Amino acid sequence: MSTLTLTQLEQTQDFIRRHIGSDAEQTKAMLSDIGAESVDALIDEIVPSSIRLSDLPNINESKTEVKALSDLKALASENKVNTSYIGLGYFPTLTPNVILRNVLENPGWYTAYTPYQPEIAQGRLESLLNYQQMCIDLTGLELASASLLDEGTAAAEAMALAKRVSKNKKSNLFFIADNVYPQTIDVVRQRAEMFGFDIVTGAAETAADHDVFGALLQYPGAEGEITDISAIIADVQAKKGIVAVAADIMSLVMLKAPGELGADAVIGSSQRFGVPMGYGGPHAAFFTTKDKYKRSLPGRIIGVSKDTRGNSALRMAMQTREQHIRREKANSNICTAQVLLANMAAFYAVYHGPKGLKTIANRIHRFTDILCLGTATKGLTAIHQNYFDTLTFATDNKDEIVTRALAADVNLRVDQDGKVGVSLDETTTRADIQQLFDILLGEGHGLDVAELDAKIVASGHSSIPAELVRESEILTHPVFNSYHSETEMLRYIKKLENKDLALNHSMISLGSCTMKLNATAQMIPVSWPEFANMHPFAPLDQATGYTKMINELGDWLVELTGYDNISMQPNSGAQGEYAGLIAIQKYHESRGDAHRNVCLIPSSAHGTNPASAQMVGMKVVVVDCDKQGNVDLVDLKTKAEEMADSLSCIMITYPSTHGVYEETIKEICDIVHANGGQVYLDGANMNAQVGITSPGFIGADVSHLNLHKTFAIPHGGGGPGMGPIGVKSHLAPFLPGHALVDFDNELKGNGAVSAAPFGSAGILCISYMYVALLGKQGVTDSTKYAITNANYLAHKLSQHYPILYTGNNGRVAHECIVDLRPLKEASGITEMDVAKRLMDYGFHAPTMSFPVAGTLMIEPTESESKVELDRFIEAMTCIRDEIRKVEQGEWTLEDNPLHNAPHTLADITDAGWDRAYTIAEAVFPVAAAAANKFWPTVNRIDDVYGDRNLICSCPAVETYIDSE
Ligand SMILES: *Cc1c(COP(=O)(O)O)cnc(C)c1O
Repeated sequence: MSTLTLTQLEQTQDFIRRHIGSDAEQTKAMLSDIGAESVDALIDEIVPSSIRLSDLPNINESKTEVKALSDLKALASENKVNTSYIGLGYFPTLTPNVILRNVLENPGWYTAYTPYQPEIAQGRLESLLNYQQMCIDLTGLELASASLLDEGTAAAEAMALAKRVSKNKKSNLFFIADNVYPQTIDVVRQRAEMFGFDIVTGAAETAADHDVFGALLQYPGAEGEITDISAIIADVQAKKGIVAVAADIMSLVMLKAPGELGADAVIGSSQRFGVPMGYGGPHAAFFTTKDKYKRSLPGRIIGVSKDTRGNSALRMAMQTREQHIRREKANSNICTAQVLLANMAAFYAVYHGPKGLKTIANRIHRFTDILCLGTATKGLTAIHQNYFDTLTFATDNKDEIVTRALAADVNLRVDQDGKVGVSLDETTTRADIQQLFDILLGEGHGLDVAELDAKIVASGHSSIPAELVRESEILTHPVFNSYHSETEMLRYIKKLENKDLALNHSMISLGSCTMKLNATAQMIPVSWPEFANMHPFAPLDQATGYTKMINELGDWLVELTGYDNISMQPNSGAQGEYAGLIAIQKYHESRGDAHRNVCLIPSSAHGTNPASAQMVGMKVVVVDCDKQGNVDLVDLKTKAEEMADSLSCIMITYPSTHGVYEETIKEICDIVHANGGQVYLDGANMNAQVGITSPGFIGADVSHLNLHKTFAIPHGGGGPGMGPIGVKSHLAPFLPGHALVDFDNELKGNGAVSAAPFGSAGILCISYMYVALLGKQGVTDSTKYAITNANYLAHKLSQHYPILYTGNNGRVAHECIVDLRPLKEASGITEMDVAKRLMDYGFHAPTMSFPVAGTLMIEPTESESKVELDRFIEAMTCIRDEIRKVEQGEWTLEDNPLHNAPHTLADITDAGWDRAYTIAEAVFPVAAAAANKFWPTVNRIDDVYGDRNLICSCPAVETYIDSE
């Protein structure tokens, strides 16, 4: 019999030890290297006592995976998932199972990072290029960005683009047609208010009656109507206005493209291309525009360039437009977008191809025709006779119909007086139509789907006006015409996956990004139908499970942040910043301080901070940092006092982006408060706070949390994410509301920052599971081990590289910055060379040149074991030796493994290998790299070439033939 106690025997199920990479022995070894007695002693050395919490957070105890999953399943089952015909941009869809399992549920796809290192990201870059091509084809415009957050925010971005490029410079007025989805109007209005634009709404035909810089139309309209908007577009353009069209992606398969109707920009959601509704998200929005507006396009653009061998290779194009470089002058603050979901939608198009999509769209449309004819036969006539998939009925029997619908577990669109709306989708069947007749007409109508269908076919009548029928081809590229069997599709997905380095291969130690374990048990509930298939505007009494889950997670986050309230609406960190700054501005306004508009931002801040400040009309004033990387208190005080009358807030990151717990943080808060300002604490570094300190405790007023960093939502190759904000109670009345869902009485009437009331609610279960599994002890231990790992790395690496910025006692927080500038000076080897060389060792580079140019910022997280950290240290140590050989002249600056990195199979199979180093040195520099070799599929990519020769669509058919 075992000598262990029952409690010890039970600990095999403990999740904490699965989440934290190193075991007790490994930890001991690391501590001995660092020179610390224990983890707690190390933390005491590092975290200033003035900000330390005395007790563990008051949340749950840790749970086993089995228990946490079964508890959450019980909550999920309180959701009542009705058949949804609500529409309004969210539709039931059939996620092809080959995509569900091999993309959405596959860590090879969901744990990847934004493709900033393109040589090891060619797979998702190809998929995103497919996405762009799909959007270009369907919308009929020239250029697409990779993805945006949701339809509402994409519309707001379109308004911002219109303002930038419109030649009607004197106008400050933007027109929104009254048949745009209500949630979109809500988001655009809020954005306009902050930008200081005026909004006018009215019937689409009246757009050109106003002197506007731009207009937003919906196609088909919110009630399903299809009208020829080409004349409206032309009229607005004649008066120098820019026209954006919000379009339904499935309808575009059959309808004339908005680009062909003259639109300057087309936006919308790609959700119904195989991405579950998830109670509002995550889904990818699309944005296409004319080539001449390419510099104004918001979001990432994937472009074709070439590598050093002259082969075609993909990477993110024109990055200089983005906020990392342009800061408050950036086009938008979007950073994390919805890459995983854009990939799913692209794969959906690849799998179905043009024919399959036409079949799907035509089926939806035929069912709509049948529903329209059947109801009309019985005297219930749809308001609009030209439609794609949505019918709206004016009826005196609305209550009766709704009662029948609910009794049959069916949701109709019922938000308008006296009207009932029905939107059909890919999942609709004959039986559904029969049931809809029963609901709309009452039983005993005697209608038969097959008979109605025969009548429609015989009549030859089309409910799409002839001039709006699509004639142009879609998806003619080979990629959309090659993978229609499941075997072929599976292999295509796998082929792309193999090109990408994700967390299932090795550590991705990106500073400020917290690439920790995304545990499988946390991911599993995402696919549960109770969560996946809920429409965001379903009646709240059907979403009890969601409400409870969201509230419970909210309570935990309140406790962990030290705030009073949480809003789950922002669907990225940057959106959280925007929402938080709105709360600050509205608060000032409520106190008669509407004029306060100065936002102090330390020079080390993340690019989204100034970009968000700009979005709410603030004036950014940069505060210096001192030599230690801390905010220069003298400069801060001077500026805060100088601008006391106009000071709105400070945006500060803690621990600082330099990876240090500034001792003066409380003083910083006090100075800002004393001068009438609010403190926005960027929560990206919460992984160094949870359980040991908190923004609320420190004295901040509002923060966003990156749930896709600290709280285990995977990065998805560049999204999804969630950026909920926590606020002190004085800011709570200014949190986002929603036009269609009254989830909080107090917030009624407040504008929205996202299209859905709880943002990307469908992935909140990941963070819920994270906290449920770890509990108060586990979340706190995670912080402590994250700090321990960072200090171990910093200590080991400091023997080879200078570590930039440490706290007073030489320690760092949860990340550290390796300074490569002195080496560059001495050897000519750049931070880029080191980043690319790491690929040969099987690693993704740490964050490059943020927050300091010429450096690498490393954040190992708690989930990496000492074994993995040692592998990384070995790689960095060997790289240091390689640099030394260049320094000492053994290798020239052109002929060395750093300059030529990454190395590919093409390099080593090239007959004429004549380099100063061996093939083995190139590709198997250490045994660990050889044992688990990751092959970059392209050589180093030429960014400049790609930006000079911008191509953001799939290569033409001829180039495929050439290369074969
Ligand atoms: C990641 C990050 C953000 C932005 O978050 P997104 O979700 O990408 O918009 C903001 N600030 C800091 C410091 C970050 O690291």
